[in-house]
Formats: sequence, C-alpha cells, structure tokens
Amino acid sequence: MGSRRIAILGAGISGLCTAIALKRAGIHSFTIYEKSDKLGGTWYDNSYPGAACDVPSPLYSFSFEPNPDWSRMFSPQPEIQRYLAGCAEKYGLLPHIRFGTEVAAASFDEAAGTWRLRTAAGESLEADVVVSGTGQLNRPHVPDLPGLGDFEGAQFHSARWDHGHDLSGENVVVVGNGASAIQFIPQIAPQVKRLTILQRSANWVIPRQDFAFSERAKQRFRRFPVLLRMLRWFVYWQLELRFFGFFRDSWLSRRLERGAREYLEATIPDPALREVLTPDYPIGCKRILISDDYYQSLCRENVEVVTSPIERVVPGGVRTADGRVHPADTLIFATGFETTSFLAPIQVEGLGGRKLEEEWREGAEAYLGVAVAGFPNLFLLYGPNTNLGHNSIIFMIECQVGYVVQCIRELFARDLPWLDVRREAQTRYNAELQRALAKTAWAAGCSSWYKTASGKVTNNWSGFTVDYWRRTLHPRFADFRKGSGLEL
Ligand code: NAP
Repeated sequence: MGSRRIAILGAGISGLCTAIALKRAGIHSFTIYEKSDKLGGTWYDNSYPGAACDVPSPLYSFSFEPNPDWSRMFSPQPEIQRYLAGCAEKYGLLPHIRFGTEVAAASFDEAAGTWRLRTAAGESLEADVVVSGTGQLNRPHVPDLPGLGDFEGAQFHSARWDHGHDLSGENVVVVGNGASAIQFIPQIAPQVKRLTILQRSANWVIPRQDFAFSERAKQRFRRFPVLLRMLRWFVYWQLELRFFGFFRDSWLSRRLERGAREYLEATIPDPALREVLTPDYPIGCKRILISDDYYQSLCRENVEVVTSPIERVVPGGVRTADGRVHPADTLIFATGFETTSFLAPIQVEGLGGRKLEEEWREGAEAYLGVAVAGFPNLFLLYGPNTNLGHNSIIFMIECQVGYVVQCIRELFARDLPWLDVRREAQTRYNAELQRALAKTAWAAGCSSWYKTASGKVTNNWSGFTVDYWRRTLHPRFADFRKGSGLEL
C-alpha cells in the first residue's frame, strides 16, 4: 500500500522502528535521511569508554526482535549498535537509508499538501509525510565557559569521544557528573595521571548490579524463546512499578532515597567526600544514576571531586571560584545535550508559515508527544513529554510508531491530503499532562535536562507507561482535522 512519500529523519532506534513497522504494513515508499555515515543514532554517537545502556537489555530491545545473545544484563554500546545494524539488515532497511544527509529545513506547502525539505548541503526534497526520529539527546551541549578559546590542551564532548587521543598519564578535567560521566570516569581513572571532576550538583546513585549472561543461559534463551520473553516482562513490571517512587514524597521515593544513602555510606568511607556527593534535592528530580563502579573510582588517590564553581578556563586548565587552577592536558565535557528545543536546529514551518520554534517559545508541547497543531502530516517520535525516568524508552517509541503507522494508513487508505491535530485536543491534553507532572519528583526544586530554564517539564511523560500505551493504542481521529476541509 502507498506510493506517497514518507521522509523519516534519523536512523536511530525511532527511525529504524518506524521503517520496520511501515514495511510490515506493506508501505515501502519511505526514505530515512541520516546525517551521520552510520546508523544507530545516539548509540552510534556515544561511544565513550564504558558506554552501556542503563535499562536491562532484555527490555532494551524491540519487542518483536528479542536478542538471546546479549552478553550482559546491561549491554555495552558496541553490542547495541550491532543489534540495531542487524535489525536494519534483517528487515532490508539499508537501501532506504540516505547517509550523510542532514535535513536542515522543512516547510509545509498547503496547496500541494506536501512537505518541502532542504538538506544542509542545499538539496531540495519532497515528502507527503515527515516522521521525525531525531531524539531528545542528539545535540551535544558545550557550555560557553569564559576563556575556553584560550585553552591549549585537547577538548571534546563525551558524545564525540576522540578515540585517537591517548589519555594515559595526562591531567584530565571532566566537566559534569551525569549519566555519561559516571560511565567513563571509572574507565579512564586508572589510566590518567590526575582526574579532576568539576561537579555542579550531586546526583543520586544506586547500584547497577550488572552481570554477564552465561553461555548456558544464552543457549536456553535461544532454545526456549519464551524464557527471554518472561524475563522481559519481569523486568518491565519491576521498572514500571518504580514509577510510584517518582510521586513526590511517596513511600517508595523515601525508600529509594534511603537505599541510595546507604549505598553512598557503604562505598565512600570519607565523610567529607560523602557530604560532597549527597544531593540537596529529592531523589528522581534529576535522572537517578545506576553504577557499580563510579563511587568506587572516586576513592582513588588520583581522583578529586571539586565543587567550587568554574570561574574560567585558562590556557593550562580550569580555574575555580576558590582560586585554584586545576591543570588539564585534556578537558572532557560530559555536559549533556540540548534537550528542550527538540527538532531544532531544523527550521520547521507549518500551515500559514507558522514556525515551530515560535510555537514552542514557552516550552515544547505536542499531542501525545506525536503531533503538533498547525503542522499537518508531521509526526514526532520521542517528542515532547515522552521521556522516562523509570522504564525503557524503546517501549514508548514502539507505542508511538504503532500510532503513527495507523495515522499514515488512514491517510493513504482514505486518500486524505493531511491530518492536523486540533489545537483544542492538544491544549486539553497538555493541561492534564502538566497537572499530573506537578505531582512528580521532576517538578521539585532542581534543574535538569527534563525542563526549560523557566521550570516547565517539557521532556518527561507524566505517568506509567501502560497509561501511555493505552492512550496510543488507537488514534482518535476525531481529534484531527483533515486537509479537504471536511471533518473526520
Ligand atoms: P546530563 O545528565 O545532562 O549531565 C550533564 C552534566 O553536566 C551535569 O552534571 C551538569 O550539572 C553538568 N553541567 C552542564 N552544564 C554545566 C556547566 N555550565 N558547568 C558545570 N557543569 C555543567 O548529561 P549526560 O550525562 O550526557 O546524560 C544525559 C542523558 O542521557 C541521561 O540522563 C540519560 O537519559 C541518557 N544517558 C543514558 C545512558 C545510558 O543508557 N547508559 C548513558 C548516558 C546518558 P548539573 O546537574 O548541575 O546541571
């Protein structure tokens, strides 16, 4: 079915999942535009030492493509990358992918009912439907520190790791201590001469309890796929129930926080360092970090956690507000991503020339995280308010893909020019969402990549993933307008 063209932006988990679902629905008229030279999205970009998923692998995979070969409970990045490449190969997606093609602008031509796309190289493309799979964590954030231009050493961001650069015997300064930093710090600490971590805020850390799957276990998963399926469901429900811990001041949140404090006490003998590592906000407000070796690596002689704020970068290191200069041969930014501007820097223009970035001036919002009023036939995956703090994002992406493919089928089967979500439906949905978010840990007093500078939570889903699954199971077409002027 379908000869109308679909442009998928990004060959990460979202883009690949969409392509597979379209093929399964008999729709082959799609192209995936990928700015990199390889597929995998965030799992291609983030290749820093120790990169691994922080959701158990039996759940961190497509539901329709279980993998009995995961080496560990929390698989390392190269395995995830290989898994995704294997899926692309198996489902025949490679001929559909145009690598090295970055879409820079998209504008909707109302008369023709098509999207006109422009690539960063200046090429013009057209599509009837655009599905964005650009993710929330794809543009590295490097803070504009005073003096950065004067720095004489090497510098790079964790998501652009310079594998050609040998850190052995160097003085290294790491800015940031989030989910990325805590994975590579234990890997590089034994290698470098001195490692200084510039920590702006402490994070709650709980043990990961990672382990390798034995050959016997893998054989059993291969022979009895139902075992892997059961494990997947067990992990899913275990994580899902954790959402109770994200309600502010709930019994489970207090228990989680107590567990994290106990872990800190058990692993950090030095009371002064413990103090430095104790967060001043409730657990869950920022992402809860899971690690079996981060705290342990901070106890090394050659590692120091500095909390004095950065004053400026100097040619040989970083000066903090207490007047100390921390010498650096290499400066590593583990400072996260530009998360709240979503599709940016792609310039998106919808009906009547409205600009998406202006629509989202007060903070991004969408209907179910998938559709934005005034931007017909544009579907977002892992869009506003669909990130999680407690479960697998692949589950959410599969919900969205199922929803979007139903919309596309409706468009094609009924030969509708376009579908545009009604503004009332979007407003109603977001009012309810923000009311629910106000009761969660994310709304507590901390800054995080989940919210805008003004404090609006634009990135996270407000509840249980089963609730999101239920809402996205079947589109309510009454919530959409179609292009011909007739009501659905
Ligand atoms: P992040 O969680 O946003 O952490 C950024 C760090 O940089 C924070 O410690 C932040 O401090 C610090 N920072 C930012 N700007 C700064 C500045 N101007 N001066 C000093 N410090 C500054 O980024 P991330 O660690 O890359 O992780 C992002 C997300 O990616 C995670 O939450 C997770 O969802 C995902 N991730 C997943 C995995 C996995 O699955 N294993 C691994 C890595 C990342 P403040 O806290 O004070 O803002």
